[in-house]
Amino acid sequence: MSAMMRDIRLKMDLVPRGTHGRKVVRPMSPRYITIHSTQNWTADAWRHSLALKRGALRAPKRRGGNRIGYLIWHFTVDDKVAIQHMPTSEQGEHADFDGPGNRYSIGIEMCEHRGSSRSATVERTAKLVALLMKKQGIPLNNVKPHYHWPRRGASPQNKNCPHFLLDNGRPGAKWRAFLGQVNYHYRRLE
Ligand SMILES: [Zn+2]
Repeated sequence: MSAMMRDIRLKMDLVPRGTHGRKVVRPMSPRYITIHSTQNWTADAWRHSLALKRGALRAPKRRGGNRIGYLIWHFTVDDKVAIQHMPTSEQGEHADFDGPGNRYSIGIEMCEHRGSSRSATVERTAKLVALLMKKQGIPLNNVKPHYHWPRRGASPQNKNCPHFLLDNGRPGAKWRAFLGQVNYHYRRLE
């Protein structure tokens, strides 16, 4: 496990409790892991972390929609590091408003800025997911693309996210290959 920890290069850079995306602390017992990609071609993991800490990622707060006026998730991964923004014992705002994706899942964003290595980012993400599965007792079947969680009132309801691991906007061969990668690392932890 320690070799994998070293490979992941996990950094803690938490949004201070009581501010922005952690303004309201809502406890969570995670049952799922949700995978996203940022669709931001300029920002690496540290830039995303800074934006979260500055409260720069606002979202319209509305009944049945975003609950706190900010976006927040648990980890951002790029080709160099993985950064944790909030404890996995708190709910984020990254998936499906007041749905189960936010209430029960750990959110991971993969960076896709120009010049970064996608394969290195995906590999680091697969290792982080394996480690979280092990720590939290989450089965592979509960590792989901953002697509899995319908967003009531949004169009399209099922987002094409993470777009580069979906086929024509849906889970297919690429998503199965990613789960295979996660499972390979998970088995190495046993
Ligand atoms: Zn997403």
